[in-house]
Amino acid sequence: MHTNLINGEWVDASEAQELRNPSDLDEVVGVYAIGNREHADTAISAARHAARGWARSGIQLRCDALDTIGTELLVRREELGALLSREEGKTLAEGIGEFTRAGHIFKFHAQQALRAQGELVPSVRPGLHVEVTREPVGVAGLITPWNFPVAIPAWKIAPALACGNTVVFKPAEFAPASAWALAEIIHRSGLPAGVFNLVMGRGQEVGRAIAEDPRVNALSFTGSAATGQRLAVTAAHQLKRVQLEMGGKNPLVVLDDADLQQAVDCAVQSAFFSTGQRCTAASRLIVTAGIYARFRDALLERTRSLRVGHALVKTTQIGPVANAAQLDTNLRYLDIGRQEGASLACGGDRPTLPTRGHYLSPAVFVDCDNAMRICQEEIFGPVAALIHARDAEHALELANATAFGLSAGVCTSSLHLAQHFKRELRAGMVMVNAPTAGVDYHVPFGGTLGSSFGPREQGTHAREFFTQTKTTYVNA
Ligand code: NAD
Repeated sequence: MHTNLINGEWVDASEAQELRNPSDLDEVVGVYAIGNREHADTAISAARHAARGWARSGIQLRCDALDTIGTELLVRREELGALLSREEGKTLAEGIGEFTRAGHIFKFHAQQALRAQGELVPSVRPGLHVEVTREPVGVAGLITPWNFPVAIPAWKIAPALACGNTVVFKPAEFAPASAWALAEIIHRSGLPAGVFNLVMGRGQEVGRAIAEDPRVNALSFTGSAATGQRLAVTAAHQLKRVQLEMGGKNPLVVLDDADLQQAVDCAVQSAFFSTGQRCTAASRLIVTAGIYARFRDALLERTRSLRVGHALVKTTQIGPVANAAQLDTNLRYLDIGRQEGASLACGGDRPTLPTRGHYLSPAVFVDCDNAMRICQEEIFGPVAALIHARDAEHALELANATAFGLSAGVCTSSLHLAQHFKRELRAGMVMVNAPTAGVDYHVPFGGTLGSSFGPREQGTHAREFFTQTKTTYVNA
C-alpha cells in the first residue's frame, strides 16, 4: 500500500482505495491510503514544529533540495508520465508533458529561493532606517484537484518551500498516484522531517481538517467553485490567508477575418485535448456571422477525426474521462443540452474499445444560446458549444456574459481587433490566435470573477501568497 508521509515517516492508514485505470477498469494502478482527521492533525503538528527551523534554513539548502527534486522529475518523466496516464487517462504525451512541467517548475523555484529580495530605505526620521523584508507565512495547506495531478501540486509545493514555508499537502482522492510519486521524490531530497507532509484522503475529512485548523496559516486550493466558496468562508472566519483557483467557462472567439485552419486548431486543442478536463479549456466557441458556417463545418470534420482511445496507445489523441463521477456529469450535461434545444452535431457517444474504460467521444453542440446551462455551467469534459454572434462587438459581449473569468481567446488577423479584445475580455489570461489552455510556468496564472480569489499563482508572482512583508525600523 502507498501510505501517507507525516513528519518524515511513511504512516499507515486503516482505510485504503484501489485505484483503477480509466482506460482499462480491469487494471489496478495501485492501492493508496485514505487518511483521516488524525493524520491531518499529526501532519499539521509536524509542519508547525518544523516551521521555525525551515524558515531560518539557508536559501542554498532550499535551492539544492528543489533542484534535486526537479532533476529527478525530469529524468523519470517517461516512467512517471505513464503512471499519470494510467491513473488519470491523459494521453502518454500529455502525461510525460505534465511531469516535464513539474520538473521545470521545481527548477524554476529552486532559483527563486536564491532571489529573495528586500528593501533598505531611509526613514523620514533622521537617524533611523527602514528594512522591508519578506518572511515565510508558516504552515501552508495545499489542496489540489485530479485533473493535473502533478503539475498543480508542483506549482503550489515548490514556491511554498522555496519561500521557507512548511507544507501539508492533500491531493485529490481520484488521483493520488502521481502525487504520491512526487512526495516520495521530495522525501528523498534532503528536507528536514516535517517540512513536507502528504495526507491522502477525502476532501470532506482531510481537506476540511486542513482548512479548519488554525495552525495552518495559508490555504492554497485548486478545484471546483463550490468547494472553493466553502473554503473562502472557512478561511474568512479564521482570517486565514487564502488562494483559490476554481472553474471556468472559457470563451474562444473566432472573428470573420480569422485564419480558418488556425482557428479550428485552437478550438480543437482548447476544447478537447486532455479530454476537456482543463480549467482553461474553451467550452464556448463564439463565432461571428461571416465565418460561422465554414468554421462549423471544418470544426465538425476535425472533431469527428479525433482518435479516442487507451491513454497509453501511441495513436490516441483523446484519452478517457478521468473517473466515473465526471463521466456521469458529462452525460448529464449532454442530456441537459438536448433538453435546452441545442443541437448535438457530433460526438457524445460512448465508443466500444478493446478495454473497458470511461470513453466518451468529443461532442459539439451547434446553434447554442449563451444563456443555456451548457454555456453557463462548467461541464469539465469534452463538450463544446458553438454560439453564433452577429459581429465582433456582439461576440465580445457574449464572451464576457459569464460568471467566470479564467482564460479567454480570440482568433483574428486584425491587430486592431486583437488589441480591442485583449483590453476588453474579462479574464485573467487572454490568448490571441492561441488555444485558451496551455500556459507558461514563469508568468502569473489565475483568473477574475468566479474563477479565482487571492493572489496569483506561478512565476515570480507566487511569492506574493507564500510570503508576508515585515517592516523593521532600526535606530542605529
Ligand atoms: P473538487 O472541488 O471536488 O476537489 C478539489 C480538492 O478539494 C480535492 O482534493 C478534494 O478532496 C478537496 N475537497 C473537496 N471538498 C472539500 C472540503 N469540503 N474541504 C476541503 N477540501 C475539499 O474539484 P475536482 O473535481 O477535484 O477538480 C475539478 C475542478 O477543479 C474543476 O472545477 C476545475 O475547473 C477546477 N480546476 C481549476 C484550476 C484553476 O487553476 N483555476 C485548475 C484545475 C482544475
